[in-house]
Amino acid sequence: MVVRDAHVHLFPAGAMADPAGWAARHGETHWARLAQSPLQGWADADAIVRQMDMDGIEFALLVGWYWQTAAATEQQNACLHDAVARHPGRFAAFASVAPQCGETALAALDAALAAGFAGIGECLPQVQGFGWDDPVWLAMLHTTNQRRGRVLMHVTEPVGHLYPGKVATPLQDFVTAAGCYPDIRWVLAHWGGGLPFYHLNPAVATACANVWYDTAASPLLYSPAIWRVALSLVPPGRIMFGSDYPLRCYPRRQSQPDFRLLVDEARSQIDDPATLAAILGQNLDRLLE
Ligand SMILES: [Zn+2]
Repeated sequence: MVVRDAHVHLFPAGAMADPAGWAARHGETHWARLAQSPLQGWADADAIVRQMDMDGIEFALLVGWYWQTAAATEQQNACLHDAVARHPGRFAAFASVAPQCGETALAALDAALAAGFAGIGECLPQVQGFGWDDPVWLAMLHTTNQRRGRVLMHVTEPVGHLYPGKVATPLQDFVTAAGCYPDIRWVLAHWGGGLPFYHLNPAVATACANVWYDTAASPLLYSPAIWRVALSLVPPGRIMFGSDYPLRCYPRRQSQPDFRLLVDEARSQIDDPATLAAILGQNLDRLLE
């Protein structure tokens, strides 16, 4: 079975070489905290491809980070663009955006889309420093809605344990935005912070008709039962396997990050072959169509 991963991070080379120093020079205070976590692994584009080959991952969507600064955003998009170009057929990428930096971020978005980026994200307004009502952000959403484009949001669960970098992301914000911009293909990372449960409310299910969920970092947050539970709440066509590689999602079982353990978990939880094939790859294909 072909496996395609909807959530893989590639960081700029300078950031990987010296995370603390690079973050300090760039004013990336939030990323600095996460980068020192023992859970964080590192892999350049070649290393990602090697691990994909070892673990049977055919294709990965490389996603940007929610940088606080324009300089980091620029470096991120340059390294993503380079990775896609150097590994034909293996990667697509979502561009980082920085609406908090004002009007120049709109030109950067146009340039990214013209350069072939398949969408934007991961975005996290509360860390980046803009509001859902920020005019530049709204202009980005308006443009993306017109193009029937894709937006990936980092979503945290409103209850649970505390961990470095956890910030509240009210679920209502996503429901409201999805209702206002229904032609955007929204991807809510990390099982949407539990939003699938609220699809039991018909008004939420209607507003979220174009909302997709990825499974990034799932083992750090939920027991394997999440796969079956989520499948009872949202259509199987809107859940996408995403690993959050090179995060070590199974810290007790992994010395190095890999894809295989999460693929195995999905296989162990989903009995129906058609549903499994959809989640492990076909849904990502549809998202990117
Ligand atoms: Zn995330």
